[in-house]
Amino acid sequence: MNSPENASKTATEASIAENLKTIRQSLALGLSEAKRDAGSVTLVAVSKTFSAEEILPALHEGQRIFGENRVQEAQSKWPLLREKFADIELHLIGPLQSNKTAEAVALFDVIQTVDREKIAATIATEMQRLGRKLKLFVQVNTGDEEQKAGIAPSEAVAFVNRCRDVHGLDIAGLMCIPPFNENPGPHFALLRKLAKDAGVQELSMGMSGDFDTAIQFGATYVRVGSAIFGSRPPLVSA
Ligand SMILES: *Cc1c(COP(=O)(O)O)cnc(C)c1O
Repeated sequence: MNSPENASKTATEASIAENLKTIRQSLALGLSEAKRDAGSVTLVAVSKTFSAEEILPALHEGQRIFGENRVQEAQSKWPLLREKFADIELHLIGPLQSNKTAEAVALFDVIQTVDREKIAATIATEMQRLGRKLKLFVQVNTGDEEQKAGIAPSEAVAFVNRCRDVHGLDIAGLMCIPPFNENPGPHFALLRKLAKDAGVQELSMGMSGDFDTAIQFGATYVRVGSAIFGSRPPLVSA
């Protein structure tokens, strides 16, 4: 019961607020070291596995942009939090199944994980039906890992074009999760090159362990979870 996971799971309100301030300072420093404009990276606070109660300190600290990786889990927390905080922007950063697309389009403001034709088509249909326009990212499997979601790098540019030309979707940028235990730099460089080739601006890359590197490679969104909220139970950290 005294494992580090449990210890940080019960991170106090004060420590979550403190962590958030530290991350914001690191982002500002990283931008200045990379000679990039202040404010040119957006922090997505990844709140997956954490309860509404654990998310509140971040909201009280002014954080409004959050990432969740499961539609159902997000539905159980965010509608209530949104009643108290009107200006929340919610990002889906986990794989999307087509039978969950209607719910996802209704709940989220941004979907970062568009990665195949069928999902692109379903998102287009649901946005039309619900009269909603979400910001969309194509997820690229930069490490060509078999078990990982995302379109293959070799197909990414053509896929972005098909999203636009066939499905009428406006793709804002690309997202990647580099292979665990690999130097992330080459993956971030690849994502940046693919975005340039596809003519899209935004780069969602960098997590708690590597957001500094991601900023050097031009990240415009970083997705930071454990460095803010504490570590998650290993099995549900997908
Ligand atoms: C969980 C998760 C994150 C956050 O990871 P941390 O290492 O806790 O910062 C970022 N991106 C995605 C896609 C995730 O699933």
